Amino acid sequence: MRLMDDLFPVALPMGTSHLKNRINSALQCELFNATQLVAKSSEFSHPTTKSGGAYSAKITNCGAMGWWSDAEGYRYTENDPRSGNPWPGMPKLFLKSLKPALYGTSAEGFEPDACLINHYAKSARMGLHQDKDEADFSHPIITISLGATADFLIGGEKRSDPPQLIIVESGDIVIMGGKSRMRFHSIRKIYPGSSPLANLDGRISLTFRKAL
Ligand code: MN
Repeated sequence: MRLMDDLFPVALPMGTSHLKNRINSALQCELFNATQLVAKSSEFSHPTTKSGGAYSAKITNCGAMGWWSDAEGYRYTENDPRSGNPWPGMPKLFLKSLKPALYGTSAEGFEPDACLINHYAKSARMGLHQDKDEADFSHPIITISLGATADFLIGGEKRSDPPQLIIVESGDIVIMGGKSRMRFHSIRKIYPGSSPLANLDGRISLTFRKAL
């Protein structure tokens, strides 16, 4: 006998969409390769918090703006603070892949100016946080997952609100917009060995934003 939860899965909050397997496996490989090209100009590294703690994920950016955190705090910058050079341009493939994937969704027509690329090795996580360094919260945050499966938790607008689990796999897209835009969220764990991509052991997320 099936459990009630199989028949009636718990609904996601308004403004959150989980689009499963939205990016096909060939395109997942190409997107991963494009992240490696971005990393040749702006390498992945562990950002730090203002107080000096290091994130367990490594990050880099592409696009007109990039998100960074170090002793100066969280912010978007036009240049990679490590080199002083502009962030690498957003690969055409990113926008070409994103656009059709969003047809028919609440985020159709979204035009990001920033893509924060997170790399999670098998033991990496991301603590509970809100995305609030962008200028206009009416724009959504869109994430494409590549590689290993992960537990993505989405809570409420208060840090103490109980979170809901979304298991994200390679090729999935998560949209957080509208009433979900300011929800706290985290990456609780990566499932080691679950990546379907030959050259990617951990997980990479492409998180598209409109920073300005
Ligand atoms: Mn976030």
